[in-house]
Amino acid sequence: MSVSSDHGIALITGASAGIGREFGEQVAQRGYDLILVSRDAARLGEVAASLETRYDVGAEVLPADLTVDAEVTRVAQRIAGEARLALLVNNAGFGAAGRLAATDPAQQEAMVRLHVLTPVRLTLAALPMLLRNRRGAVINVSSIASFVYSPGNANYSATKSYLTTFTEGLAAELEGSGVQAQALCPGFTHTEFHDRMGASSAGAPAFMWMSAASVVRASLRSLDRRGPVVCVPGLGNRLLVLLIRLMPRRAIGRIAAWRRARVASVEGREGR
Ligand code: NAP
Repeated sequence: MSVSSDHGIALITGASAGIGREFGEQVAQRGYDLILVSRDAARLGEVAASLETRYDVGAEVLPADLTVDAEVTRVAQRIAGEARLALLVNNAGFGAAGRLAATDPAQQEAMVRLHVLTPVRLTLAALPMLLRNRRGAVINVSSIASFVYSPGNANYSATKSYLTTFTEGLAAELEGSGVQAQALCPGFTHTEFHDRMGASSAGAPAFMWMSAASVVRASLRSLDRRGPVVCVPGLGNRLLVLLIRLMPRRAIGRIAAWRRARVASVEGREGR
């Protein structure tokens, strides 16, 4: 379906599920037309049709595997000349549990591509038009994992650290341009993320979990009031980040290792 109305356009990656799907929902509610990107074309089509019907917006489906260079190029070309582009949400991502030496090297490389290279390439493609129009925003969906290093999750935390730091630098460069950049750093969020990585949510207390809807609401509200570049949704998560910032760096790895051992023992007891 082609994009049709007079509102700005938002391109959202990973729009078929979880946080990205919720961005589609809330951004459509605000009247943006959409370009929805992820691998699963059929699922994206269903999301697009539902948004078009309910919010009277245009929703274009652009299926792409964003770990594949040529497919990222195709998406970048789609937005590079798009005069109505107003929002880029680099959200697509995945986790991989396990010590680096025991994981699939191809999967780890794909993670670097998806969390690092693709957001940089799409940001570079989007910026000229956003700057020309002196409006809009780039939201990079990072994680509270970006503030720690994490044995058993080494590459994930490192890629998200890149994304947070990249966004902070970008936001500083964009000051006074009318264009915003936000590093959205959610904590535990109810999506398909943990199931897809085959990880347990055991060990994370219930009060730490948020819905994708609350995470996205916090992100968009913070953009509205030109809030902090690094947006950490939820009071519990903000307190955790504060604690992490005060903690000696060495202690972080020990706590992460303890938590991982606890999760493994819960999984063992439950026969998972
Ligand atoms: P999710 O429900 O599993 O959704 C992930 C989305 O990314 C899906 O739409 C998936 O669609 C897309 N995707 C995955 N690999 C892709 C690829 N190679 N090319 C294009 N699209 C791809 O997970 P989520 O929790 O919403 O995750 C969204 C972001 O939030 C991620 O960057 C994640 O790191 C971050 N995050 C999540 C949590 C959490 O607890 N859930 C916490 C902190 C940060 P297809 O399968 O159709 O491609």
